Amino acid sequence: MNRKTGFVVVLAIIALGFIVGVYAGVSSVPGADSFYAACPVFLEQIIQSAAGDVYNYEAETDFEEPKSYYIVSYSVKGDSIFSPVLNDVPTYLLDEQENIALQRSVWDVYTNLIPAEDRQMVTRFQVFSDGYSNTLAAVSPSYEDPSLWYLEVDIADLDDQEALLFTLIHEYAHLLTLNEAQIVPDIELALDYDLDLLTEKAAACETYFTGLGCSQPNSYIQAFYNRFWTDINDEWGQADRLQYDGDEIAYYNALYSFYKQHQNQFVDDYAVTHPTEDIAESFAYFVFSPTPHGDTVRDQKLRFFYEYPELIQLREHILKATCSMTE
Ligand SMILES: [Zn+2]
Repeated sequence: MNRKTGFVVVLAIIALGFIVGVYAGVSSVPGADSFYAACPVFLEQIIQSAAGDVYNYEAETDFEEPKSYYIVSYSVKGDSIFSPVLNDVPTYLLDEQENIALQRSVWDVYTNLIPAEDRQMVTRFQVFSDGYSNTLAAVSPSYEDPSLWYLEVDIADLDDQEALLFTLIHEYAHLLTLNEAQIVPDIELALDYDLDLLTEKAAACETYFTGLGCSQPNSYIQAFYNRFWTDINDEWGQADRLQYDGDEIAYYNALYSFYKQHQNQFVDDYAVTHPTEDIAESFAYFVFSPTPHGDTVRDQKLRFFYEYPELIQLREHILKATCSMTE
């Protein structure tokens, strides 16, 4: 569930099709986007921070997964974090481990961004580090009870504010779309994730199987899948299967060429990782982009979220919190 940026060689600063001024004056519904207008430059920078070709491996064939350490893990109740559990860390991470104020400042950013009632599934806050860049943040379900989730943030990436904000919202989208009101969490898969079990579980699920559990018929992911994935899922599945063969580069190359084939359907190449990543990445673009008016599937994916009044409200909350950071 993490959004990796480690193998991004160049964060291309792409002039996105929707440039702030284009929509600023549009007043039709849902184009009236006064929330976007509050700090358009900062929001555009947040979007640009996500515009890397993460699966473009042509220039880089020797990527190695960096070593990652859990530094401290907090219990969560409402807005509070408490009872820190310290992990064994290498000496160079001791300063980060002792810096409680810094750890709390990240949690404060998160609680400002996401309303309390929308993050009740988060029961632990874990600070980790795999060095600068790489994984900025992640969410993962608890093994004991996959309806409970952990939020994880890399303490080494706090200076990259735009990328961190984008990633926190991408990660939040997983909680929004995979919580137990949306899917039925599968405890067996949470304990022992393998292809055979996954295939068996997917076959037994009458709705879309997310990988973590069977979708509820009226869930966001089911609606998103029905509308945007049914005609591409078989082709995508051929690329996806390669990850189980142990050749990561072949898998990434296949994903990238799938992306190139269907580029106007995706907000960026990371979104082709999986339908659950597509909805998470599209949600983050929905939050930080002006309302799109184009006909591409990519634009339709962003407009998808405007069909849910509670998500429009959530977007407004996140944008207010985001823009207040620039004041
Ligand atoms: Zn993700």
